[in-house]
Amino acid sequence: MKCLYNGKLIIKGRLYEKKAILFDEKIIDIINEEEIHHISNLEKIDARGCYISPGFMDIHIHGYDGFDTMDATEEALETISRGIAGNGVTSFLPTTMSMPKENIIQALNTIRKIREKGTSGAEILGAHVEGPFINKKFHGAQKKEYIIPFDCDIINDYKDVISLMTIAPELEGALDFIKEVKRKSNIVLSMGHSAATFEEALEGIAYGICHVTHLFNAMSGLHHRNPGVVGAALTTNVSCEIIADEIHIHPDLFSVILKAKGLDGIVLVTDCMSAGGKEDGVYELGGQKVFVKDKEARLEDNTLAGSVLKLNHAIYNLYKRTNYSIPQLVQLVSINPARVLGLESVKGTLDIGKDADITVFDEKINILMTIGKGKIIYAI
Ligand SMILES: [Zn+2]
Repeated sequence: MKCLYNGKLIIKGRLYEKKAILFDEKIIDIINEEEIHHISNLEKIDARGCYISPGFMDIHIHGYDGFDTMDATEEALETISRGIAGNGVTSFLPTTMSMPKENIIQALNTIRKIREKGTSGAEILGAHVEGPFINKKFHGAQKKEYIIPFDCDIINDYKDVISLMTIAPELEGALDFIKEVKRKSNIVLSMGHSAATFEEALEGIAYGICHVTHLFNAMSGLHHRNPGVVGAALTTNVSCEIIADEIHIHPDLFSVILKAKGLDGIVLVTDCMSAGGKEDGVYELGGQKVFVKDKEARLEDNTLAGSVLKLNHAIYNLYKRTNYSIPQLVQLVSINPARVLGLESVKGTLDIGKDADITVFDEKINILMTIGKGKIIYAI
């Protein structure tokens, strides 16, 4: 049994000091710190006065350290999983792009295999399939030629590995597709890369969409007489991803979004591409060249092409720009994404009986240690 002590435990948005957390693969107990000296065979880990937080979960990430989910290799997923553990991430959804169907299938086969086998870094929970059933008008960095009409084959064959899927509800066949997904699987449906009107977006939500992919980016915006996807996202109880790199969304909007959705309604994601964790240069995303300079990733025509954001930095950016505390904001990368995926009974908080996914960080959210299911997967 292991134990983390000399830290500030974050439990449901509040801080607890002079407590120790005991764990193996699962969290076993939370006890007063002085009691740890009476327990034998305890592997004691000093948190050096830092925060002891539920591990971070990234439900929208394409790549890291030079590799991409669409590489469809074990090496790619293993490298990404190890790299993002250094940013405090204990579990994630490798995210596919609009590419030829056989490439998406290859990526899903690899995700399925590696999920079973396990990684040495952050745990793979399943796949986020972003496209190809999206609107060409808001393709963003997804290549238009790979965007195709709805087709349920992928659901039938890969419902065990797809956790989340981004679709555009205004497209022909979308509502039938949503019904079919709901009937056959537990896949969570998210609205994104969408030109839906407010009414079309609400209809998609009524049919079962319950999440929104990178709010504000690649969707019909908020106009006071035509509220679009953003309006539907802000006025209903769907959860919303935001890419808080201060580039995808103006940072002064962070508190407006938080006010509208509440702390429970926002999930921080990175949408990171293969240049994450690497130096500036030329990279690739979904078969297109991406130029990375000064923390911005853009296609040749200047379109934003994912990010090079680290999830720990996303929390810190929100912390700097809003009035919320770090313990409060941690829920945006822990219990909120766990709820989106229906995993709140096993992940997302430091509750007894849940997976021992734990991240230790300082006041600037620099990561000291990341623990995935009780194993140290990163430490400085
Ligand atoms: Zn993406």
